[in-house]
Amino acid sequence: MQSTKSHVSKGETVMVIAGKEKSKSGKILQILPKKNSVIVEGLNMVKRHVKARGNEPGGIKEKEASIHISNVMPFCSKCAKPVRVRRKALENGEKQRICAKCGNSIEK
Ligand SMILES: [Zn+2]
Repeated sequence: MQSTKSHVSKGETVMVIAGKEKSKSGKILQILPKKNSVIVEGLNMVKRHVKARGNEPGGIKEKEASIHISNVMPFCSKCAKPVRVRRKALENGEKQRICAKCGNSIEK
């Protein structure tokens, strides 16, 4: 059984570790649990033909395509590289996600 809880969450900065966007980073705009994929801002752009709709003109628009979730890792700004995160319980009972390497908190 695979956990439905992903190792990354919406709004956090991740780095791509495989594929054509390797070593680029960006913010997660959306998680697609059914596809095990994420949409990362500005990455994996694809051109799409869009039909005119209402007062929006048609044409070619660039849009982010999904990236498989196993190809992204949380990005630690302090280590300046993709890292594993671990969860640390705070005194108030909340859990904080921190970089397993340097302890820097990885929050949105
Ligand atoms: Zn770190």
